Amino acid sequence: MKYIEPHAHMVSRVTDDYERMALAGCVAVCEPAFWAGFDRSSPAGFHDYFSQLSEHEPKRAAKFGLQHFCWLGLNSKEAEDVKLAEEVLALIPEFLDRPNVLGIGEIGLNKNSRNELRVFEMQVELAARHHQLILVHTPHLEDKRKGTRLILEVLQNDRRIRPERVIIDHVEEHTVELVLAAGMWAGMTLYPETKCTPARAVDMLENHGQERLWLNSACDWGVSDPLAVPKTAREMKRRGHSAATIEKVVFQNPGQFLRQSPHFKL
Ligand SMILES: [Zn+2]
Repeated sequence: MKYIEPHAHMVSRVTDDYERMALAGCVAVCEPAFWAGFDRSSPAGFHDYFSQLSEHEPKRAAKFGLQHFCWLGLNSKEAEDVKLAEEVLALIPEFLDRPNVLGIGEIGLNKNSRNELRVFEMQVELAARHHQLILVHTPHLEDKRKGTRLILEVLQNDRRIRPERVIIDHVEEHTVELVLAAGMWAGMTLYPETKCTPARAVDMLENHGQERLWLNSACDWGVSDPLAVPKTAREMKRRGHSAATIEKVVFQNPGQFLRQSPHFKL
């Protein structure tokens, strides 16, 4: 089985993970810019990170036969300092033409604060101005539905944003329908503890169909599983889904969305 991992923070993973993913059938991994687990102290820290994502990490992945793509942006956890955000966003355009850059992400909301919302709007503006795809992180737990609504409002109020060019990630049972009804793509994040288990993800696929949905592990420096996508494919198989349906969800769907960026070529 071949698959695409559309959301993984590989800079925080060991080389064994690349090897295991390749052995499991992964052909491409996409890495959104993310919080490092601590706040970066200056725009220079972000410049180095964007260079790492667009120069170094593709070479590391290639050693294991994997293509590596990335998304650039400022994570909502670092969006409280609006002045820093302005300086970081000013760095991004120089990276957008690099061959593995897919768009602006992961951007979004964490605590749904006023500054987060302001910085989210600035990043949507950046994406619109540069005709970039958008990957959105939604808040976890009890604020998810409210945060998802706020995010959809901002995106829908900008006439330049085409819904089919936006993926809203970390959807759960109470937000997936909102996102699909808005014409956007929805990502289901498979986590061992929080977010969504393989069984819950397959339930959602059975309830909502397989259009405009993808699966990702969002593996990072915390408790997470870089093989969560193939494990969910196994759960689909166990429940009797056909090989064609499984391939649609884990390979064709992410490819269909990502090919809207001219940089996504397998
Ligand atoms: Zn992430």
